[in-house]
Amino acid sequence: MFISIASLVFSLAARAEVLFQRGSVMSTYYMVKIEDDRDSRLFDAIAQELKRLEGKFSYYSEDSELSSLNNYGREGYFKVSDEMVTVIRDAINIARESGGCFDPTIGPLMELWGFKSRKPSLPKEREVQQVLSYLGWENIDISVNSAIRFKNNKVSIDLGGIAKGYAIDSIVDLLKSDGIRSALVEIGGDIYCLGDGLSRGGWKIGVQDPKEPKSVIAKIDIKDSAVATSGNYERFLDYKGERFSHIIDPRSGFPVKGDILSVTVVAPRAIDADGWATALFVMGFDKGRESVESQDNIEAVFISQGEGDYDIWISSGLIDKVEVL
Ligand code: ADP
Ligand code: MG
Repeated sequence: MFISIASLVFSLAARAEVLFQRGSVMSTYYMVKIEDDRDSRLFDAIAQELKRLEGKFSYYSEDSELSSLNNYGREGYFKVSDEMVTVIRDAINIARESGGCFDPTIGPLMELWGFKSRKPSLPKEREVQQVLSYLGWENIDISVNSAIRFKNNKVSIDLGGIAKGYAIDSIVDLLKSDGIRSALVEIGGDIYCLGDGLSRGGWKIGVQDPKEPKSVIAKIDIKDSAVATSGNYERFLDYKGERFSHIIDPRSGFPVKGDILSVTVVAPRAIDADGWATALFVMGFDKGRESVESQDNIEAVFISQGEGDYDIWISSGLIDKVEVL
């Protein structure tokens, strides 16, 4: 069974001017909170924009731009929108910098494991190896004029690891260009905090207890940044008594069974927070920590199982912003 639980948001404002909008998108929920004393005319534009992005990046919907690319990119160069190229380039950058732990060609493996159809099935080792043999982000070839082709005819692109983040960034741009100075945008647990958060001294985002997601074990001060968490408690598959994470290790072809219970990433852009949370979850505690400290624009909180209690690691740039409870 799949479950999905969001990070908890501490929004303490009771100001009359705070406007909320909730809905569903990309197989999850979204929430936008605007702290501004205007009418709610922006909400239509937000809902439309989310629908547009869902329509573009959906792996399943036959008429999405991504599906067209997946169909025709096998035959030769297929011209895509600038926006599609931008997102795929970002995905490839994360793939390269994570040593392939993030891989936007993971789709066929997700299907093999039944994560896409929500019908779990344990594939045979042989089947996993077979699919693995033709996957890999290096098979995506982008030409100068925004056309993409795949170097073998079995590759397809799945942007599930960063699409939510990209959609959040797009909504934040929309809010900013309308002059909104304080807002919170959330899609399925990934969050962007714009501005000051007028409520009691700023936005604070809770990091959930990986084993008891209803309780919070730390709070992070966030301003003009995004937060995303990957963990095996958020979405998983229980099958015959075993629990499988919906994040797959592209090196083995198997769901991640690593030493991290959850990783929370803070970054200037939600697309990076979203993608890197997935990447670091695959990389594991040691490599993941090194990677975070070597990058300027990414901070993280790792939670792993220590002896008895949790071990919590906080990257150097975040130390004075995290309160462990
Ligand atoms: P979480 O919220 O736990 O990070 P996301 O929904 O952001 O989960 O990411 C999970 C999605 O990412 C999967 O549904 C799949 O589409 C994609 N994915 C799974 N494993 C990988 C991987 N190793 N690299 C890139 N994308 C992945
Ligand atoms: Mg993610």
